[in-house]
Amino acid sequence: MINFVESEERRDLRAAVHQLGSKYGESYFYGAAARGAKTTELWDEAAKAGYLGVSIPEEYGGGGGDIGDLAAVVEELATAGCPLLLLVVSPAIVGTIIARSGTDEQKQRWLPGLASGESRYAFGITEPDAGSNSHQIVTRARRDGGDWVLSGRKTYISGVDEAGHVLVVARTEDARTGKLKPALFMVPTDAFVHQPIETGLVSPEKQFTLFFDDVRLPADALVGREDAGLDQLFAGLNPERIMAASQATGTARWALRKAVEYAKQREVWGAPIGTHQAIAHPLAQIHVEIEAARLLTQKAAALDAAGDLLAAGEAANMAKYAAGEVACKAVDQAIQTHGGNGLAVEYGLVQALANVRLSRIAPVSREMALNFIAQFSLKLPRSY
Ligand SMILES: Cc1cc2nc3c(=O)[nH]c(=O)nc-3n(C[C@H](O)[C@H](O)[C@H](O)COP(=O)(O)OP(=O)(O)OC[C@H]3O[C@@H](n4cnc5c(N)ncnc54)[C@H](O)[C@@H]3O)c2cc1C
Repeated sequence: MINFVESEERRDLRAAVHQLGSKYGESYFYGAAARGAKTTELWDEAAKAGYLGVSIPEEYGGGGGDIGDLAAVVEELATAGCPLLLLVVSPAIVGTIIARSGTDEQKQRWLPGLASGESRYAFGITEPDAGSNSHQIVTRARRDGGDWVLSGRKTYISGVDEAGHVLVVARTEDARTGKLKPALFMVPTDAFVHQPIETGLVSPEKQFTLFFDDVRLPADALVGREDAGLDQLFAGLNPERIMAASQATGTARWALRKAVEYAKQREVWGAPIGTHQAIAHPLAQIHVEIEAARLLTQKAAALDAAGDLLAAGEAANMAKYAAGEVACKAVDQAIQTHGGNGLAVEYGLVQALANVRLSRIAPVSREMALNFIAQFSLKLPRSY
């Protein structure tokens, strides 16, 4: 039987996280962005309450939950107006890859800091000349005695200024066949040069270009096994998409709530503007689309937790697509509902306008998610 009711534990988690997020809200998030500050207070409080480590195994200090629990955390914070991007990257992508693929020593070394919130890790796969086509990445790691030497460039990597290490995807050469294949390396952020990318996003979290100029790394910087890099990388993809979808549905719920509240109290023709169907229907439609995207996201999380990674991958791509679309629509419609006030900084919507476009671009673009669905679900021929 399919259970459409979340466990009591999950619902309690949602309520507690939402309460914490609401204590901060969008004025805190956008205020920090405007001052060039970070969201340290919120991050620390969420960590102390165990929310950031909720999906880290218990033996490493975490809550022992699954990606659905962490997705609930990111969604509820976004619903309260605080869409923390580093939650998608640090505990979700890096945490999952290390928990699933790291050696015992690596888990012991990297996971407790994630669980306590003391450590943050960035994740670097995107390169200037590869973009969506990660098969084209050229960053190389070559052996030199017992060490590794890393060279190449990454771009649009989030949170490098806040992270102690970056989990970098690089190519290594197979000693037997000479073929290049992806492998994963934990690289300290003080070992390379990084430059901020100026974007129009209004967010405390920033993006960077990273330059690896023969960066020397110890042997144990390689995460897991050199010959299993691709499988290890795939282990992080579903969590990444589930988290991105949850952040998007959270933002959509935040925007819808603001629009509904405004439509109930704003009167210009002697009745609240919400009485006009031109205002009410788009909001009702968005509500339906949010619930559809949330169901897909929860399905993806349940399949991932059950270990059916292939089916989880299909649901996660669908969820990511549906959530990204409705998030953009919700913020746009909330602005429309607010009229001129939709563009006033005070309401926080205009700042969200640029940020929400990210949900159609990263970590996987709308087009690449649809490519996956066309090929995997519909068995259409691959076009690229
Ligand atoms: C704010 C922000 C934060 C990010 N954080 C990180 C991070 O922490 N770590 C990281 O590694 N990366 C990060 N990224 C990078 C992000 O994952 C990429 O921007 C994204 O994967 C798209 O790659 P691209 O920008 O090179 O676009 P391109 O690959 O150049 O694509 C441009 C357009 O063409 C479309 N396109 C490309 N190929 C196809 C095709 N075969 N079929 C149809 N359409 C296609 C794309 O969908 C897109 O619309 C971040 C990006 C942003 C903007």
